[in-house]
Amino acid sequence: MSKGYELCDKIKNLTPYDPLEGEYRLRLDANESYFEPDENLRRELGEIAAKTAFNRYPDPYAVEVCRAFAEFYGLPESLVTAGNGSDELISIICGTLLQKGEKLLTFAPDFSMYRFYAELYELESVVMEKEPDLTLPVDRVISYINENQVAAVMFSNPCNPTSLGLSRENVRKLVSSVKALVVLDEAYMDFWDQSFLPEVQEHDNLIILKTCSKAIGMAAVRLGFAVAKPALSIALRAAKSPYNVNSISQAIGAHILSKREFLLDCRDQLVKSARELNARLNKLAGEFPVLETVHPTCTNFVFVKTPAAREIHQKLLKKSIAVRCFGKYLRITAPSPEQMEELLAALHDILVEMRDNA
Ligand SMILES: *Cc1c(COP(=O)(O)O)cnc(C)c1O
Repeated sequence: MSKGYELCDKIKNLTPYDPLEGEYRLRLDANESYFEPDENLRRELGEIAAKTAFNRYPDPYAVEVCRAFAEFYGLPESLVTAGNGSDELISIICGTLLQKGEKLLTFAPDFSMYRFYAELYELESVVMEKEPDLTLPVDRVISYINENQVAAVMFSNPCNPTSLGLSRENVRKLVSSVKALVVLDEAYMDFWDQSFLPEVQEHDNLIILKTCSKAIGMAAVRLGFAVAKPALSIALRAAKSPYNVNSISQAIGAHILSKREFLLDCRDQLVKSARELNARLNKLAGEFPVLETVHPTCTNFVFVKTPAAREIHQKLLKKSIAVRCFGKYLRITAPSPEQMEELLAALHDILVEMRDNA
């Protein structure tokens, strides 16, 4: 006979991350790279996977893949900790570097997982609204942190979902003006030129997060990295679960990260695609004022303000095209050249239909 087990409040009230399910012809909703390994690379990856010591636990410190990552970004290996996606690293930071009740400052709009983990680990989640133009008010942020005993601040730069970036100079000002831990999520910095990685060793209160899920094109293998000075890196390695990155992901990650030319070429094409998408959406906005603002992009996606976001989102889904909808905004991932034509044709048809029915 059950005694009536009940879930605790924090888990009862948790809203799970809700990724889109189902099959769509165009997946432009998750900011993934559109590049897939060609047949040669697939064969290499298959051979690497086949060599795995399947009966053995993985290398707990993922040394080989951390070395490949460090080499790719020109960093000392000692600063790098691997995670099962940067998502896991966000969870580890919230759950172990911060204590229950401490203040974690995040921003709106920004990546939703920061707040998710803050709530899960019973931190005091403080959310500051960005400026009306969606930029981060650095001076206001610094005063807030210093006047309110904020323990940590976490944000993405360039930002998901706004696609806007904060200059290196402003990041430097923020990091050096506070005692709080700054978690700087550079998931999309491959697409922009203001990375703070070269200065990571100058700050004791800084963790930079990177992921292989976007520019590197390996969302499937779940690999993320935290870059920080030794004191923080040692703490993260001590706090993580021992075998957090599986052997296959470690080996495949190390192999892909060694393909510098290939990765930089993919990156360049993704940047080109995002710029073209931005320009063509701007042109469409000239014809259809319902597309209010097409934000400039520092990433591999474009953020569009439109009061018709929900309707357009639904109509695109009916045409088997998935984009992300956030209230009055659409976020559209940079498509391949063929997908670009299909997306813009569909969007044009939808806007004509909406105008004619208005
Ligand atoms: C996609 C994304 C990540 C990546 O998460 P992984 O767990 O490494 O796939 C991290 N931060 C932001 C802001 C992202 O958009």
